[in-house]
Amino acid sequence: MAPNAKRLKTEGAPPAGVVVCDNLIGGESTPPLSGTYLDVVSPSDGTVLGRVAMSGQKEVEVAAARAEEAFVGWSGMTAKSRAAIMFRFHSLLEMHADELADLVVAENGKNKAEALASVAKGNETVEWACSMPQLMQGKILQVSRGIECRDLREPLGVVACLVPFNFPIMVPMWTVPIALTAGNCVILKPSEKVPLTMRKVGQLLGEAGLPPGVFQIVNGGKEAAEALCDAEAVKALTFVGSSGVAKSVAARCHAVNKRVLALGGAENHLIALPDCDHEAAAHDIVASFAGCAGQRCMAASVLVLVGDTGDLLDRVIQKSKALEPGTEAGKVGPVISTASRDHIVGRIGAAEAEGGEVVVDGRGWAERRPGTWVGPTVIVKSRNGNKGDGKSEEIFGPVLMVVKVDTWQEALAVENASPFGNAASVYTSSGPAADYFQTRFRAGMIGVNVGIPVPREPFAFGGLSGTLSKYGDFDVTAEGAMEFFTNRRKITTKWALPKEATMTAAAAAGGGAGGKTDTANFVGQM
Ligand code: NAD
Repeated sequence: MAPNAKRLKTEGAPPAGVVVCDNLIGGESTPPLSGTYLDVVSPSDGTVLGRVAMSGQKEVEVAAARAEEAFVGWSGMTAKSRAAIMFRFHSLLEMHADELADLVVAENGKNKAEALASVAKGNETVEWACSMPQLMQGKILQVSRGIECRDLREPLGVVACLVPFNFPIMVPMWTVPIALTAGNCVILKPSEKVPLTMRKVGQLLGEAGLPPGVFQIVNGGKEAAEALCDAEAVKALTFVGSSGVAKSVAARCHAVNKRVLALGGAENHLIALPDCDHEAAAHDIVASFAGCAGQRCMAASVLVLVGDTGDLLDRVIQKSKALEPGTEAGKVGPVISTASRDHIVGRIGAAEAEGGEVVVDGRGWAERRPGTWVGPTVIVKSRNGNKGDGKSEEIFGPVLMVVKVDTWQEALAVENASPFGNAASVYTSSGPAADYFQTRFRAGMIGVNVGIPVPREPFAFGGLSGTLSKYGDFDVTAEGAMEFFTNRRKITTKWALPKEATMTAAAAAGGGAGGKTDTANFVGQM
């Protein structure tokens, strides 16, 4: 197979060893009606690993109809029965963790330790979903004599989840197990670049006992994604990916009054103060920007050094230079595609042309054949190099821009100037300093001495609304996702109290029956 093979549309029988990722519809592996497939290419060595079905509106219609049929039975089960299936799924994910991690390594290029961690992290959300029977209950209160209000959570119906390439299993797990346990039927559209891992996960969900049609996969790209946004049967949609697409997906859903949460890109800032632990911070900063080849939404993009931070930058440089390419634990894997590699290399060149000093240069790795590689890169920006110009294009690679400032206010101004609002962290040994930044950052997820501030269950995950990192409502994972995937129905009940009870209550209230005015008389009349 040619190194760096392009993702071509292919037809005809696949060569031996090439996995065919058809759609999963009604529990069956189903070819796309168009017969069109795209190659799935290994970023490590350019070989063709698989072929993915490229679907459109017709496939979405078929899947949505099957999901609507399945919803009747699935939503009619108790949350406990649905959670029982999730318990089995949780065990199966543990049993198959190594195999799933190998698929993540093969199609995404993460190193094996990162891939295993992504499977484990995904399974933490399944674990949370297993506890949903305890968490889904509503409130009940006697709001007035004889009047009771309660709310119940109900599933929405058929929902869709659109996911990016960078975490083939973990990001789908942010939503799928919670949506399912809440009683919804889910149609997932994986990234066409990495469909192999979720193909396997779909099989495991079936093995766990999920009825056909409750979880389905429609593979494809833009066409399938847009069809899911438009489909009347799809009541809500989550998206995770780049900001431009997040914005258009959210607008498309809003146009048909569909509930949507679209998480976009990021430009995460780490601010280091002179009093931080230099060795621990340097280790953490490098792990943040170079881990997963910088292709995670929580990766650091900008390091802001405030005042005299001593040898911190030298330590970051030494540790970055020591990293090696590879998919074994501790190494830095490839970036996803030739387009991605060329974009990252182009952005490094542009920063250099603007006066940035490339103190660690990963462009040499780009020559590495086969595969698509870029090494860790550290660029110290010239003092006037930070324009805060609202650029909305991520680098999305293992590149760290370093900005030097004198004061906390300047540091904050650099972070606040970013149009993104995903994550930000401060490194310091001072509580008041940490407090100053954590209450002023323009980000939804904040770290103190943590370079990847990912909230863990039961906390939800998501950037700040009103920035390029988030469109729509709610969050993913845990309570955020439970809120997103359920409706709360509010029920107000009025029963005429038996005469004896009325008298007892009136006596306790110090008046005769009807002697005291309360809001009970108005309820039901509004
Ligand atoms: P992407 O936006 O290219 O694709 C995401 C999904 O949308 C894929 O399933 C893709 O097939 C589909 N898609 C692509 N173009 C589309 C279009 N025009 N209309 C409708 N659907 C379309 O993103 P990607 O390159 O796969 O993933 C990387 C991006 O995801 C980065 O920007 C990263 O920051 C972001 N990301 C964000 C988070 C977060 O939590 N905010 C998490 C992970 C990744």
